[in-house]
Amino acid sequence: MMSEREKLIEKLSDYGYIKSEKVRKAMLRVPREEFVQPDKKNYAYLDQPLSIGHGQTISAPHMVAIICEELYLEEGMKVLEIGTGLGYNAAVVAEIIGEKGHLYSVERIESLAMASEENLNRTNHSKNVTVVVGDGTLGYEKEAPYDRIYVTAGAPDMPEPLKKQLKIGGKLLAPVGPSSYTQELILVSRTSKDEFTEKSLCGVAFVPLIGKHGWRR
Ligand code: SAM
Repeated sequence: MMSEREKLIEKLSDYGYIKSEKVRKAMLRVPREEFVQPDKKNYAYLDQPLSIGHGQTISAPHMVAIICEELYLEEGMKVLEIGTGLGYNAAVVAEIIGEKGHLYSVERIESLAMASEENLNRTNHSKNVTVVVGDGTLGYEKEAPYDRIYVTAGAPDMPEPLKKQLKIGGKLLAPVGPSSYTQELILVSRTSKDEFTEKSLCGVAFVPLIGKHGWRR
């Protein structure tokens, strides 16, 4: 009999959100129930965001699939995530980039950062994930440049520091929009030191990105 996780992954593949074997395998390996609040474990395999407290959410599984597919992640990549939440997306990315890769994830709410570290530790994802508390709209200069950067909260404009921290040939994915709860998912590719291309992938609804290059509180 198929598990709840297997059923969800099959549905995401049938709907075309999961396209590649590497994203499918990574999502099959990560137990989403370990990244939700204890009273929400029964809902872990519904394809929807769930509250994680502090007015924040764990992203819906289809959104995690879209992010991972559109970034074309490869083993060994250095990746920056803005908005760790409870760490689910981070764990899926960590599975794809493997032990030779590394994910730095910045979260502005300290208690979420601490809880995500515990979750990532318990599920054996802490070797190649480092959680940092701070304002992710500034990126994480210390480890720049990155092969890939993705933002899991909605920004009013594409944060400039993130573009600067991208390697040439790198990709940056972020929800951007004029209202703090509806955005377009924008994919930026850095083609040279000073040149970037941008395309809109789809409409999305993320919680606001709050910080110097995001929304002001
Ligand atoms: N990646 C998460 C997951 O796997 O479910 C999604 C988390 S939630 C949709 C967005 C997160 O972004 C929240 O935890 C919020 O606190 C965080 N956030 C908002 N503004 C931020 C900023 N400037 N820097 C870092 N984190 C931020």
